[in-house]
Amino acid sequence: MGNERFIRCCVCDAIHHVSPFDKAPVYVCLGNQLQEQATDDWRAFMERHAGHRLEPLNATGEKFFPYASPLDPMSVAYMELTNGRDRYLVRRARGRIQEPMSYELIAGQLVEAGLSVEVQENEIKKEMKNHFSWAPATCPQDDKIDLFVGLLKELIQTLEPRRIQISEFSSLDDAVSYGLLDDATVDLLMAKCSVCFWPDELASLRRFVETHRNGCDVMTLVISRRLTIEPPAC
Ligand SMILES: [Zn+2]
Repeated sequence: MGNERFIRCCVCDAIHHVSPFDKAPVYVCLGNQLQEQATDDWRAFMERHAGHRLEPLNATGEKFFPYASPLDPMSVAYMELTNGRDRYLVRRARGRIQEPMSYELIAGQLVEAGLSVEVQENEIKKEMKNHFSWAPATCPQDDKIDLFVGLLKELIQTLEPRRIQISEFSSLDDAVSYGLLDDATVDLLMAKCSVCFWPDELASLRRFVETHRNGCDVMTLVISRRLTIEPPAC
């Protein structure tokens, strides 16, 4: 959840992110020399908005990355902040990798737009090769692995996302959690596979599924809350 703190100037609608880097020096290039400059972003904000009404805000934990992965240090994020009563939407971005993040209040609000469920396709394929490496003879050929993943993907489309039991929450993204393949779904998957796989292949597939369906392991489902920005009502 969010534990980031902010200060909002109620007069200018400016936002300051309170962070341990408030006083971190910045480095500027002067000629061919790098020079350290002391900064105090918090004090600078306070001076700029002296005499204005300020209010503390906390991040609610709701974050939306519409263009790139949360792991990308350049990705633009839309974050929800609150003073305990009202909610605010802030756009967080940086122009260049060396620059600090800038925060800007935006009109509108983050709203949920449903859940998406995906299988961990690449991770499954990689893990299958690894899992069967001790006994290469039992390792399904690449086309059979593709077939298995294809059948799994087909099956996942029939699941109701909200009924999937959560096994773990992502530590990287509040909008992502991992969902369990329940016993009935595993049985259905095996029934689908039984048309295309030999009995001994089926047995090893089931063992693979059973050993990799806990926590956030490769046979868990990635459930993402899709967020979108709703413009303010006119
Ligand atoms: Zn101000």
